[in-house]
Amino acid sequence: MFDLDYTLLRPSEQFEAPGYVRSGARFGLRLDVGRWPQAERAAYVAARERRERTGLVHDDGLLPVIAHAIIEGLGGGQPAAVEATAAAIIDAWSKPENFGLYDDVLPCLDVLRGAGVRMALLSNALGHGLEDVVAHFALDEYMDAAVSSAQTGAVKPAPRMFSALLVLLRVAPAAAVMVGDSVEDDVEGAVAGGCGAILLDRAGRAVGAPLPRIETLAELPAALSLRAWRA
Ligand SMILES: [Mg+2]
Repeated sequence: MFDLDYTLLRPSEQFEAPGYVRSGARFGLRLDVGRWPQAERAAYVAARERRERTGLVHDDGLLPVIAHAIIEGLGGGQPAAVEATAAAIIDAWSKPENFGLYDDVLPCLDVLRGAGVRMALLSNALGHGLEDVVAHFALDEYMDAAVSSAQTGAVKPAPRMFSALLVLLRVAPAAAVMVGDSVEDDVEGAVAGGCGAILLDRAGRAVGAPLPRIETLAELPAALSLRAWRA
């Protein structure tokens, strides 16, 4: 079971500091690229607070909260310009062409498919539809099934997300392994549901953490045959 964003799908740089600054400039904002670390942190805190209030439900309001927190964190400006910039970022996030597959994705999927491993997508689907992404990147030739939070109404780490996909696949939790970039949503959610899990830690932020982790999908085939973390 693969997570999508930041696992298979790489958002383009328009969702990073230079992209926000460029988008803001279109609406007259002078955003400060040097404040990116604080802005990212503010967005993380805002997203966390919102999730604490809403619970583990699919939430179309989360993306605007993140966009506004980043824009304000980069310096903000006139409310109408902030609003227009946020709307442009949110619109861009909905389009698969603003994303790419990481270079290690297709080689990994080819190896797993060759080994007879069945694969599926499990995504919290923030702002873009799974069907659009699957079609745009021709992932349907690899994936047996896909479940998004927009379908279940819940988000990972809610058990309902994992069970919905496993029911579709007719696979027992113990025979499934989740691969994703979020410790809380992907790894802890999967393990709580009786599945295995491997953290894809592309940035090396979780070095030394007591869980199976890989830094690139090139490591996944070997990691799957050797070990998968189980509660
Ligand atoms: Mg992710």
